[in-house]
Amino acid sequence: MTDLTKLTLSGALDGMAAGEFSSAELTQAHIEACVKAAKLNAFITDTHELALEQAKASDARRVKGEVGLLEGAPLAIKDLFCTEGVKTCAGSKILGDFTPTYESSVTANMKADGMVMLGKLNLDEFAMGSSNETSAYGPVINPWRKGEDLVPGGSSGGSAAAVAADLCLGATATDTGGSIRQPASFTGTVGIKPTYGRCSRWGTVAFASSLDQAGPIAKTVKDAAILLESMSGYDAKDSTSLNVDVPKWSESCGKSVKGLRIGIPKEYTIEGMPAEIQALWDKGMAWMKDAGAEIVPITLPHTKYALPAYYVVAPAEASSNLARYDGMRYGLRVDGSDLNDTYERTRTEGFGAEVRRRIMIGTYVLSAGYYDAYYLRAQKVRSRIVEDFETAWQSCDAILTPTAPSAPFAVGRKVNDPVKMYLNDIFTVTTNLAGLPGISVPAGLDKDGLPLGLQIIGRALDEDTVFKAASALEQAAGFTAKPEMWWV
Ligand code: GLN
Repeated sequence: MTDLTKLTLSGALDGMAAGEFSSAELTQAHIEACVKAAKLNAFITDTHELALEQAKASDARRVKGEVGLLEGAPLAIKDLFCTEGVKTCAGSKILGDFTPTYESSVTANMKADGMVMLGKLNLDEFAMGSSNETSAYGPVINPWRKGEDLVPGGSSGGSAAAVAADLCLGATATDTGGSIRQPASFTGTVGIKPTYGRCSRWGTVAFASSLDQAGPIAKTVKDAAILLESMSGYDAKDSTSLNVDVPKWSESCGKSVKGLRIGIPKEYTIEGMPAEIQALWDKGMAWMKDAGAEIVPITLPHTKYALPAYYVVAPAEASSNLARYDGMRYGLRVDGSDLNDTYERTRTEGFGAEVRRRIMIGTYVLSAGYYDAYYLRAQKVRSRIVEDFETAWQSCDAILTPTAPSAPFAVGRKVNDPVKMYLNDIFTVTTNLAGLPGISVPAGLDKDGLPLGLQIIGRALDEDTVFKAASALEQAAGFTAKPEMWWV
């Protein structure tokens, strides 16, 4: 029998529908792959027994003709989504063995669609990071390697590594400033952050609520579309959830991009970006043109202020969201001499260095004397960035950029230099600030044989165009490279 872990999600769904194999067989093959891949450290919690039970239940449903969108597909969940009865710790010590009594809306949608859950994936602590090195559970190792261990990107490093190494058919992820797209770029996978409000935030551990958005990491653009169809949908429990229809995006894939105007923002050509990334971007423009699209130069003049604004707004919201971890309600408590001392000890021990840095920055920019100078100013920049995109949409229908300014780098290389680390997000944070959809598609390898991605950004709620353009890029790039399986 062929190796079932090499299938795409859509291939596996078709195979089960045709009776070629059962969900139990498919799930067993993925569990074996996960067990062999311990070195990648992609999972924090395994739920293999539960997965086999779910697979058997799915096979039984299929016999009765009950077939959901994700029926019987073994998938994995970023450990930021609360899962009923299964430990959820957000990559942090402070949550300890917190086991939610409820299910996040995104994973509830996927369960209702028949998903099988293999486990909870490693991530940067509270999704703060670009390399998965801030996790209290150790770094995730990128399946792609060149003589040394490389980071898979972050914060959804476990999701990206697990999909790239064929440990699951797809994974959930979240993106506050690039955490779906940058790891996708670093691992040769596809990752989409939809329009803010498409996926409910209910039951997902909060980082920066006005920027956080869930989305999938997958092997192909079509797989990402199928997963997003399941994850999305209106939810009255999230006041920012959008009450709009969920289109059949998987049907947008492969449709013609003839006449589509693709904007190329001049501000995204930045100093110090490797020539290979510029060259890949140029190739992307040529591919879109060959597919019938029109390339138009555009300007997004406030781009240079996006990162500083993001690194004020995100920590501000994080400092407020993380105030709830006081040692009284969940997880870790380190007793002190009085209540304040207990708070202090708990938070000092429970949070890692990057999270503490964000809380300090956030508290500072929100404090009475500095609010206007930092937080208010950052919000004004955010409005300018929204306007930049609104102006751009008058002359284009989608925007093409590189996803990240570098290929995956070595573990340990940037972890002690926060500013260098923050620069990773230069091409991704603008879409979070503006609430727009963005996808990363694997487009080529660099001279060291490491994957590089290109990003398509679309208008709010226009994932249809994003998927069309991404699928045209995917076809033209013909990216079929896979990492060597050194970890087995
Ligand atoms: N790397 C960015 C940060 O550290 C984005 C993280 C994310 O999108 N969750 O904040």
